[in-house]
Amino acid sequence: MPNSPVRSLILAASRNPNLRDALVGAPITRDVVKRYIAGETIADVIECTRALAADGLLATVDRLGEDVLEEQDAANTVRDYLDLLDALAAEGLTDSVEVSVKLSAVGQSLPGHGQQIALENARTICERAAAVGTTVTFDMEDHTTTDATLDIVNQLRVQFPSVAAVLQAYLRRTESDVASLGYSGSRIRLCKGAYKEPDEVAFTSRSDIDKSYVRCLRALLASPATALIATHDPRIVDIASSLIAREHRASDTYEFQMLLGVRPAEQRRLAADGHRVRVYVPYGSDWYGYMMRRMAEKPANLALFIRSLASKG
Ligand SMILES: Cc1cc2nc3c(=O)[nH]c(=O)nc-3n(C[C@H](O)[C@H](O)[C@H](O)COP(=O)(O)OP(=O)(O)OC[C@H]3O[C@@H](n4cnc5c(N)ncnc54)[C@H](O)[C@@H]3O)c2cc1C
Repeated sequence: MPNSPVRSLILAASRNPNLRDALVGAPITRDVVKRYIAGETIADVIECTRALAADGLLATVDRLGEDVLEEQDAANTVRDYLDLLDALAAEGLTDSVEVSVKLSAVGQSLPGHGQQIALENARTICERAAAVGTTVTFDMEDHTTTDATLDIVNQLRVQFPSVAAVLQAYLRRTESDVASLGYSGSRIRLCKGAYKEPDEVAFTSRSDIDKSYVRCLRALLASPATALIATHDPRIVDIASSLIAREHRASDTYEFQMLLGVRPAEQRRLAADGHRVRVYVPYGSDWYGYMMRRMAEKPANLALFIRSLASKG
């Protein structure tokens, strides 16, 4: 995503614990939050994903929370994912619903053995996902974690080949990552990237990011990998549709993926046109960082958000 001053400010705010406590602690409206987040409980997730399934939409569920600093919090995240997977299975939803996991939420940023703890926690979630007939995508966080995250994904794929990796088109390295990960059986989510990254590692202008996305998308769709095309950008969706037709991609070899609450009519249009469409469904009480990244993508939403805080707070 481009580094505009407004975006930089919002992303800085997303890491500010004082502001987070003030906003999250306020008796605020859920009006804006509700549009982007299923709710706080697993029951909310079930209701949301069932409604999506009724509209022909797949889902990937993210239990909100990142950057845990205590091993116990990482263990709590794992327990929540296991409960979530069991509930999805009990409701017969695992055909259409998978889960998305941030490794920082399962311990990757813990000092010392964080990487090993994250790997073991991630393995526990993958085992349960496989047992109930679904799979896991590992979200990608800021560029300092890219190698460590891909390393964990590669290790997990030995036992769980359907585990998906995420690549961010704003990173200069990503074309080469698409080349090395674009093998048969590999599932790759391609997104633009949501963090504030320095020039040395990332494209920072909108047009450079978009051009990189299209280069990576061409390579991904020409490869034998399953392409998970995560964007709301209408121009890129059009280009992807043409490339899918040109590559004669079977409908089970790619997906469009969009966030809950963003371009919902387009999600339904793509599904009605016969494409697989997966909606990213976050849930939980720790929505602050996630919401602020959505605000950074579309600062017009920030005004709406602040107005709703002021009117109900
Ligand atoms: C399924 C999914 C998974 C993702 N996983 C990751 C991940 O693991 N790591 C990561 O770094 N990023 C992830 N992202 C976020 C991604 O990197 C982008 O930050 C985000 O998708 C915005 O980029 P865009 O491609 O939609 O294009 P943009 O250039 O941001 O937007 C294009 C158009 O889409 C519409 N739009 C975009 N955002 C909004 C919004 N919030 N509200 C309303 N309209 C909007 C607008 O019409 C806009 O003009 C994910 C995104 C999706 C959809």
